[in-house]
Amino acid sequence: MLAVLKSGTSRCKIEELKLALEKDGCIVRESSEDGRCILGLIGKNSVLEKLNSSGCIEEIKEVQEPYKLANRMFKPDGTVIRVKNETIGGAKLAVIAGPCSVESEEQIVDIARKVKEGGAGFLRGGAFKPRTSPYSFQGLKLHGLELLKIARQETGLPIVTEIMSTDTLDEFVENVDIIQVGARNMQNFEMLKQLGRTKTPILLKRGFSATIEELLMSAEYIMAGGNENVILCERGIRTFETYTRNTLDLSAIPAIKRMSHLPVIVDPSHAAGHWWMVEPLSKAAIAVGADGLMIEVHDDPENAKCDGPQSIKPKRFRNLMEDLSSIACFEKRVI
Ligand code: PEP
Ligand code: MN
Repeated sequence: MLAVLKSGTSRCKIEELKLALEKDGCIVRESSEDGRCILGLIGKNSVLEKLNSSGCIEEIKEVQEPYKLANRMFKPDGTVIRVKNETIGGAKLAVIAGPCSVESEEQIVDIARKVKEGGAGFLRGGAFKPRTSPYSFQGLKLHGLELLKIARQETGLPIVTEIMSTDTLDEFVENVDIIQVGARNMQNFEMLKQLGRTKTPILLKRGFSATIEELLMSAEYIMAGGNENVILCERGIRTFETYTRNTLDLSAIPAIKRMSHLPVIVDPSHAAGHWWMVEPLSKAAIAVGADGLMIEVHDDPENAKCDGPQSIKPKRFRNLMEDLSSIACFEKRVI
């Protein structure tokens, strides 16, 4: 529920009330709207009595949706997540670029330099790869993580990489700037709970067949554990269409923006499955209000170990970033 406090309620009274509610087992989140303090509360209805007797309540509103901490009602202002010198969710669009998978030191360092020159703020690269076939390249695993660290050291770009098992949680927390939860693990609730106990920003990708509400409920798992640094990612969903690898659900962006305060980015590469669709879909994503993009970039897509057909070359990436700046400007954003 939301407790809207009377305007002019003293800070001392607000803190006293928050403490009393927390003592009763409530999760309390404070925000403000039109100068009034709003307390978002998750807990038992029995606290209603305490609220009403406090004398400072103007209105109690029920939050109908099952996602609470992720709900925009709990936090009217959009969340801005800080990662090193970069932000996700603010005026500056976040661009995460790099190969599908880390293949060698030379490959990842070279692409990292090129995407940085092109304007990316973050480097992506899979060290642990979720592949449909057990016979396909599974990633360089912990060695891949070491190579990502070298690329970060060389470029200063924060690194984003996917976690596949909680067995490696400690290594990820220690070394990774943003931990990616892939589409296949979006509803791995045990993993989400463990990630919720960390402070590392989590990039949560939408499952192939997940509704927007299910995506937000997965974010809620992470947030309920205490980690509110969640970035959502629309990466296409399964439909009857087979021409594209997935169907990019652009309508999810304005929907999520209305439902939640969390930042949301778009991955046009996995949505399309075709490199030549990355440019128009990136433009569309920015135009519908996405907070950023995740783009697969490879300097030799024909020989990439994974997802070559959907990877663009560094030069095309640089041109795309230039083209996106006018759309970003139109949306009152910068890239
Ligand atoms: C990826 O980003 O490399 C990836 C495997 O994405 P998804 O989980 O969206 O398929
Ligand atoms: Mn990929």
